[in-house]
Amino acid sequence: MFAKSIVPKALGPFGLAAALLILLTIALLAAPAQAQSSMPLDPGDAEPVDSTDLAGIGGPSEMLARQWKLLRPAIITYTIQQGDNDYAIARRFGLDIDTLRFSNDWMRRNPDLIHPGKELVILPLPGAYHTVAAGDTLPSIAQRYGVPTADIMQFPLNRVNAAGLLSPGQKLVIPYGRLDYADRILPPAAANGYALAWPLRGTLTQGYRAGHLAIDVASYYGAKVYASRGGRVTYARFSPDGWLGFRVIIAHDGGLRTSYSHLSGIFVEEGETVARGQVIGQLGSTGNSTGPHVHFEVWQGASKVNPLGLMPAAAD
Ligand SMILES: [Zn+2]
Repeated sequence: MFAKSIVPKALGPFGLAAALLILLTIALLAAPAQAQSSMPLDPGDAEPVDSTDLAGIGGPSEMLARQWKLLRPAIITYTIQQGDNDYAIARRFGLDIDTLRFSNDWMRRNPDLIHPGKELVILPLPGAYHTVAAGDTLPSIAQRYGVPTADIMQFPLNRVNAAGLLSPGQKLVIPYGRLDYADRILPPAAANGYALAWPLRGTLTQGYRAGHLAIDVASYYGAKVYASRGGRVTYARFSPDGWLGFRVIIAHDGGLRTSYSHLSGIFVEEGETVARGQVIGQLGSTGNSTGPHVHFEVWQGASKVNPLGLMPAAAD
C-alpha cells in the first residue's frame, strides 16, 4: 500500500538524532520513574503523563520536535471543566476532535460521557494513541491507522526497540493516524467537461491569491491523491526547498502542468505516464505545512493560473 516507500528518504537525515534520542530515553528509563498518580492534577491543569517527554533533552529533540511539528513536548492529561465541549478542548490544544476520540477509548465509544472531572489524554500532535493488543504488530497497526510503519517506530515518544517487538498494553502514539476514514473517501468526479479534475475530495482551505498562487485542499492524512488530467510525471520526489515536502508534477498536453505538494507518499515515478483520475500519492503534511493537505498548483506555459478556473466548482 505504501508503494515505493519514501519514509527512509524523509527521515534519513534524522537517523542519527533518532539513535541519540533512543540512548537518552534508555538513560531516562533507568532513572527512577515518576509515577503518574503522584502528579497532582488541579482542575484545569495539564500535567505530563510521562517522564520521557522531550523537554530538557538537547539538540536532537529540538530537531525531532521540528520534524514532527510537535505542539507540546509530551503527552499530557487534561481534566474536563464545567462548560467544556470536545470542540473547545480540541481547539485549546491545537488538535481536532478525531484526535481526542482516537486517543481516548471511552470517548470513541460514547462522546456524550464528557463531564467535568473526567480526564482526557492530549497528544502532542494530531493522530491516535493506540493500546497494543495481543497479536498486534507494527505493520498491522500502521495499516489500520493508514500511516507508514516507520512513523510509529521512529516517533520519539514511542519506546519501540530496534526489533519492533510490542507487548500487550503498551501505548503508542500514531502520528497523524486515522481510523476508517482514508479508504472511505470517494475519488473526485472525473469532470471530463473540464480541463482538470479535483486532485481529491476535500475542504478548500486556501484559495488562489497574491502570495499563494495555488489552492489548498485538506482531507484526512493518507487520503488518496489523484492526477487531475492525464500526462507524464516530470517530478516525483522530496522537494529540496524545504517548503513543499514530497511533491509530484505532471506535464499535460497544451503546456499545462499540475503540481501536488506536502504528500506523505508518492505512488508514481518520474517519466511514468498517468491517466486522469489515477492515484499518484497520498495526502500528508510534509514540508512547511500545518496539517494534511495538498498544495495544488497549475501552470499554463510559464505562468501560474488559478486551478479553480479550470475545474468544476466542487470535487463531486
Ligand atoms: Zn498552499
